[in-house]
Amino acid sequence: MTHDGMKHAGMKHDGMKLNEYQELAQRTAASRGSDLGLTISGLGICGEAGEVAELIKKHVGHGHPLPSDKLCKELGDVLWYLADIAQRNGLTLELVARENIAKLKARYPEGFSSERSRNRPCEICNGMPNEGLACDRCNGTGVVRQ
Ligand SMILES: [Mg+2]
Ligand SMILES: [Zn+2]
Repeated sequence: MTHDGMKHAGMKHDGMKLNEYQELAQRTAASRGSDLGLTISGLGICGEAGEVAELIKKHVGHGHPLPSDKLCKELGDVLWYLADIAQRNGLTLELVARENIAKLKARYPEGFSSERSRNRPCEICNGMPNEGLACDRCNGTGVVRQ
């Protein structure tokens, strides 16, 4: 099958919302007891991420092509498990996305920087040094060094 990123599988791409996807994905979710269902999805997301990794490894390491239709399917499998894990924990995908962007904005206000990655403001102390504070994360320095 040829892959057209914009018209894949006959679907229109005029903006499926993340929560809409999460709801549609629930159609095939198993209603197993909380721990078992969560465990299966926790393993499942790793397995599918492994399939993504395998495609990339074969492409970079063994000179295989990296077909975007296959990559798209495996990324979709990762997304399915992601949605299921969120659902089982009362989180919407839109909240997950929003919180992630907020975290990255706070961590890298000027875009990604290697220096900021190595010396991050402590998320507990909000980057405020406080010698008197016994913070396990930053020892009161306000900075977490990697
Ligand atoms: Mg897969
Ligand atoms: Zn701290």
